[in-house]
Amino acid sequence: QKLKVGLLFGGCSGEHEVSINSAIAIAQALTTDENQSRYELLPFYIQKDGVWSDPAISQKVLESNTPSQLEAPLASSEAHRRWQFPSAVGDVDVWFPVLHGPNGEDGTVQGLLTLMQVPFVGSGVLSAAIGMDKIAMKQLFAQVGLPQVNYMAVTRSQIWSDPCVYTQLCDQIEATLSYPCFVKPANLGSSVGISKVRNRSQLETALDSAATYDRRIIVETGVVAREVECAVLGNDQPKASTVGEITYQSDFYDYETKYTVGKADWSIPAALPTAVAEQIQEMAIRAFTAIDGAGLARVDFFYVESTQEILINEVNTLPGFTATSMYPQLWAAAGISFAELVHQLIQFAIARHSSFI
Ligand code: ATP
Ligand code: MG
Ligand code: MG
Ligand code: MG
Repeated sequence: QKLKVGLLFGGCSGEHEVSINSAIAIAQALTTDENQSRYELLPFYIQKDGVWSDPAISQKVLESNTPSQLEAPLASSEAHRRWQFPSAVGDVDVWFPVLHGPNGEDGTVQGLLTLMQVPFVGSGVLSAAIGMDKIAMKQLFAQVGLPQVNYMAVTRSQIWSDPCVYTQLCDQIEATLSYPCFVKPANLGSSVGISKVRNRSQLETALDSAATYDRRIIVETGVVAREVECAVLGNDQPKASTVGEITYQSDFYDYETKYTVGKADWSIPAALPTAVAEQIQEMAIRAFTAIDGAGLARVDFFYVESTQEILINEVNTLPGFTATSMYPQLWAAAGISFAELVHQLIQFAIARHSSFI
């Protein structure tokens, strides 16, 4: 009896297109001879307005690699009126959510799938929510002694309130963090909404822009560092992959650099002293364990070569998952093929679920 894998993708998020690409790669991986003998694909595409599509429509989105919107999108206050499950939802044996960003990587969908009492790939509610919120994540990392950049947590109401509060806030950011600093929506990914700022007027523009994405905003001291990433796989005995490095010519690793072919280069493994690579792997596991991660995560670091400091940047609980994404590439370097990785993740989902009941 084949297991029916519910591939959940698209979603109400700024990373909608990235999610379609990840889903195409995973759907493909389920068609290898070995996986086809174990699994049957049931795709569910979530439109940008949050409405779920049935497998037939979802399959077309996978084939065309184009977002679909059947009827005119509804305003967020109205979308629930059209929100219902396609009946095939009841056939799913195990879910594979590949939703990046808010409304999918952040615990919301994980909560829904938990209520359905069906196993699902990846983090549960707690780790997904913490991994998505850069402020909560940094507070937890501090608690477990993981070194990181200095930061300040800011709320939208501080930015959009009276000018006096706003001026004080900017003064405080300058005094605490100095320039350059990074302004980020707390709950996003793919560098959406992130700005690197070098003076007061850039800071003000960046805060205003970040506040359009999220109620919670984080401002961080900018570091000059190499960017390295480590993949984690497993549940209670997670394993860390080799460390990979990203290099690029642009000012920072922004959306365009991430998703334009040829703008970023990777080295796997990163050219690092063995002791440094081992320490990064140890920190990746510590971060994964701290958030109560499950299944998978990609942990991003800054390596400040001059001082040999390793700073944790963030955990991504549903990292980019195309054939050329860093997460599967790091495991490919360890001899785990993309198709095998998808199989292992599904098995970890089932193992985690059965440990609950
Ligand atoms: P992802 O797609 O990995 O989920 P994200 O949207 O969560 O990305 P970050 O990883 O926090 O965003 O930051 C994106 C990029 O911005 C980093 O890869 C790095 O190039 C740059 N960056 C972010 N914070 C800093 C910092 N404090 N100092 C230097 N560079 C930074
Ligand atoms: Mg991220
Ligand atoms: Mg992300
Ligand atoms: Mg990152």
